[in-house]
Amino acid sequence: MRSWSSPEVPSLDALGLGRGPALTIHDSASKGAVTSDPEGAARLYVCGITPYDATHLGHASTYLAFDLLQRVWLDRGLDVTYTQNVTDVDDPLLERATATGIDWVELAERETQLFRDDMTALRVLAPAAYVGAVESIDLVVDLIDTLEAAGAVYRVDDDLYFDVHADAAFGTVSGFDEQTMLQIFPERGGDPDRPGKKHPLDCLLWLAERPGEPSWETRLGRGRPGWHIECAAIALHHLGTAFDVQGGGSDLVFPHHEMSASEATVATHEPFARAYVHAGMVGYDGEKMSKSKGNLVLVSKLRAEGRDPMAIRLALLAHHYRSDWEWFGGEIDGAEARLAAWRTAVARPTGPSGQDLVAAVRAAMADDLDAPAALAAVDAWAAGSGDDAEAGATARTAIDALLGVLL
Ligand code: ZN
Repeated sequence: MRSWSSPEVPSLDALGLGRGPALTIHDSASKGAVTSDPEGAARLYVCGITPYDATHLGHASTYLAFDLLQRVWLDRGLDVTYTQNVTDVDDPLLERATATGIDWVELAERETQLFRDDMTALRVLAPAAYVGAVESIDLVVDLIDTLEAAGAVYRVDDDLYFDVHADAAFGTVSGFDEQTMLQIFPERGGDPDRPGKKHPLDCLLWLAERPGEPSWETRLGRGRPGWHIECAAIALHHLGTAFDVQGGGSDLVFPHHEMSASEATVATHEPFARAYVHAGMVGYDGEKMSKSKGNLVLVSKLRAEGRDPMAIRLALLAHHYRSDWEWFGGEIDGAEARLAAWRTAVARPTGPSGQDLVAAVRAAMADDLDAPAALAAVDAWAAGSGDDAEAGATARTAIDALLGVLL
């Protein structure tokens, strides 16, 4: 699938400012900070959208978090390999297509394109491999075969299930106890009560053809992939095992990331990812912003209202990626004021030390992507005065490279 075009990330090293510090990031699995400083190259997988509705601020906030993470790695001098999927066939998409009378393929293509446009406007770094579920069906079938050979697959009617207890480490990504898992599983696409399953938490690998739904002819029979195996197959194929970071919103930690990791581990006998990084949820009207609740603030709508995409980006950056926060609407005005102040500040003939600003922003971002601290450092720099004639140019480049904001 076609990705979108990435903005160029300027090199601070090329300006004589050296390389940034190693990234320290919160890992959900170990419930603590880990250093992510691989030698030479870093590999990232972020779970993508199910394209049945337009990009809302919750999505934008999640993908922005992983854009920031890559910027720290890039500033460190690493080559970054980034893969993201698109769940372009799944129940929510098909249900929306049926409800609106739009062909599911057309709906998926339209919403995926809107997502690309929103990501481009917000200057979010694009994955090198942007991969759909439909185009990955062969990969999924291969991985299910491997799991079957490992004795981790069983049949319920014509559907295939993964035996989660084939993985001794099942549960270590989320750290949830079984009671919590059983409570969350049905809320996030699971089917604990289906008769014929060996264990309520076992998850669907392959859904046999259903009347009126799309399906593909494979050696498993006609059907379509489950959600978790889709990401496991795409990530393993494009990144290999033990890649550096598996990312997504915090609502993906269980069952999605737990299941993908278990499936991959049983198939490869290797860890799936080295760290599991999760972005917080954005609320609106007192609830988590989500398609199913219908309380969405759309990036495309803000853009259509004439809001500067860099102000939208700054409004999101004002919140730490791991925090859950609520959008009230007025944030965008504050962000526009901040953007204007920064633009004025970088245009001054002299200012406070640009080098000190770079050090402060680098330190904030390398410390678990503390964007609010980085914004405060830029605010302080913009409000100060000094005799550094290079300050404006240095600040402009650093703000572009590390925060992705084009002034
Ligand atoms: Zn995923």
